Amino acid sequence: MHFFDPTNTYAEKNCVKNHKKELLALGTRAFVITGHSSSKKNGSLDDVIAVLEEASVPYQIFNEIEENPSVETVVRAAEIGKEFKADFVIGIGGGSPLDASKAIALLIANPEETGDCFYVAKDLKTLPIAAVPTTCGTGSEVTPVSVLTRHDTQTKKSISYKIFPDIALIDGKYLLSASKNLLINTCIDALAHAAESRVSIQTNIYNQMFANYALKLWGDIVPFLRSDEELSEELAEKLMLTSTIAGMAIAQTGTSIPHALSYDVTYHNGVAHGKACGIFLAAYLRVYAEQKPEDVEEILTLLGFKTLDDFASYLTEILGTVSLTQKEVTFYIDRMMENTSKLATCPFELTREDIEKIYRESIVVE
Ligand code: NAP
Ligand code: ZN
Repeated sequence: MHFFDPTNTYAEKNCVKNHKKELLALGTRAFVITGHSSSKKNGSLDDVIAVLEEASVPYQIFNEIEENPSVETVVRAAEIGKEFKADFVIGIGGGSPLDASKAIALLIANPEETGDCFYVAKDLKTLPIAAVPTTCGTGSEVTPVSVLTRHDTQTKKSISYKIFPDIALIDGKYLLSASKNLLINTCIDALAHAAESRVSIQTNIYNQMFANYALKLWGDIVPFLRSDEELSEELAEKLMLTSTIAGMAIAQTGTSIPHALSYDVTYHNGVAHGKACGIFLAAYLRVYAEQKPEDVEEILTLLGFKTLDDFASYLTEILGTVSLTQKEVTFYIDRMMENTSKLATCPFELTREDIEKIYRESIVVE
């Protein structure tokens, strides 16, 4: 067994301000990476800027990271960071800016490299990275993963480098401006991380400590996600905690089949990442339970559901459905069957019939 998660992780109210010393210790010229506007609205960008300005640390902001960031955007950002002579990177936002920060830090630290290096494993260093999450799904602040959109192959894929942020500064207050829809999508992503890590071929006692605890915490937020209740500060902290802990689980095992299935539905049909994973989750667990029912029983018990049918109905209630044409379904199944590395994350052989079964249960075919 092996456990590794080197990120220096803090979670508390006013976290950025409280840990400014550790943040500032990362470098002397900061490249701040955000999405388009949410970090301004939820206060996370102001918190970071206040720390940098108070310490007179020069900084440059790149605020053009799109959802499911592309290789092209990351390469463009890195050029600006190189010109600015940044020596550390601060990612603020959802998984998209956090993942982008890792790839940008890699390119700035290796100015002779281009985006071609992302999918060739080389021995490359990165600049130091700080991660300030503002969604409660990806756990990217504690994982070594950077998922980028590849227009050349028309899909999303993790880069070939394991890049853990040096520090994660987690504050639930940034979630208070998020819509219920965003909270649902990102909470579902955290659920998928915990469940997929638990049933991965790589699972062991270490990752189960995190996966199982995240599932237990997730069980407590089940009523909130289906209600009209406003998010309280206390619950916001719990959602962040669940997401970070589920991230610690996938940092050990990686994700599995629902994530692999999600990439085409996100790339070609524009379905948000968390929802795209969540729509496949119950059906995957049903196929998995045919071989290893005890693992699925454990997941359902931790979440507080009696049966897989109850779990599936709940997910449909909060996520809605996704409709695809039969042509799309066939094309996506072909692609899944070619994705041997992700198929290998299941502890037993998955056949084409299994994947077809998952699609039949998860998708409305037009
Ligand atoms: P996201 O793509 O980062 O952001 C989604 C939307 O939410 C954006 O429009 C963003 O706006 C907005 N937003 C972010 N924080 C907000 C807040 N506090 N209040 C209101 N709006 C807010 O969403 P995500 O689901 O967190 O990240 C998805 C990405 O992470 C995918 O690319 C996925 O593949 C990746 N991922 C990575 C890992 C990993 O281990 N590294 C794991 C799972 C998923 P702005 O653009 O204005 O900021
Ligand atoms: Zn995910």
